[in-house]
Amino acid sequence: MTETVVVRDLRHRYGSTQALAGMTWSARAGEVTAILGPNGAGKTTMVEMAEGLRRPAEGTVRVLGEDPWHACAEHRARVGVMLQDGGLPGGTRPSRLLTHLSRMYAHPADVPTLVQRLGIGDFDRTTMRRLSGGQRQRVALAAALVGRPQVLFLDEPTAGLDPHARRDVWSLIRETRETGTTVVVTTHSFEEAERVADRVVVVARGRVVADGTVDDVAGGRGLEESYFSLTEDVR
Ligand code: ADP
Repeated sequence: MTETVVVRDLRHRYGSTQALAGMTWSARAGEVTAILGPNGAGKTTMVEMAEGLRRPAEGTVRVLGEDPWHACAEHRARVGVMLQDGGLPGGTRPSRLLTHLSRMYAHPADVPTLVQRLGIGDFDRTTMRRLSGGQRQRVALAAALVGRPQVLFLDEPTAGLDPHARRDVWSLIRETRETGTTVVVTTHSFEEAERVADRVVVVARGRVVADGTVDDVAGGRGLEESYFSLTEDVR
């Protein structure tokens, strides 16, 4: 399978904090890769580099063969990004916003279908700024999917969602993978990694401490137990 996201030896410092201490991993087309790690492990810094939002000081990132920092508009259109704080405008209603975004892409997803799949119709008469955190989260996911990206980055996609909404999001993620999309999910939920991930990259203190299929990493003990023994020395 093709490696579509390749991260090699990324290093980054914020003053005296070594956020990334040589991070290396890759993700493949048609698979969900979960980046699992505690707060402060470097997930957001690293994913921002893969999204082209932050320039790596040392190391390389390639997404669909290109350096995301220098990538052209066509490249950016092939990559979907769901940020933790959404970054979506407050004054519009969800499906109006999604329709507007869909017009920026050559082959967008069908907005009414996305609205229905993510239960957005229930609050579609409300402007973005008045939505609850969970509702905004669902619109942010729809916004990341509307361009039918080849690579999709999701930063804690189910944080703050109720159990029903989490299930809907997980099944949508699995369906997206079936279309050949590369999905990279950062999470600190073991359940999320077990439900959606083909591969798990466990990170701690800016390093990869384990990388493989869920079964490889879980080693027959369950992901949660393995995770704590893997990250014990580096927390
Ligand atoms: P995660 O997403 O895994 O929680 P982050 O990439 O947000 O990890 O953070 C990694 C480390 O870098 C943490 O120690 C965090 O406090 C620090 N950090 C993140 N962003 C900044 C920043 N803008 N300035 C200073 N330190 C930062």
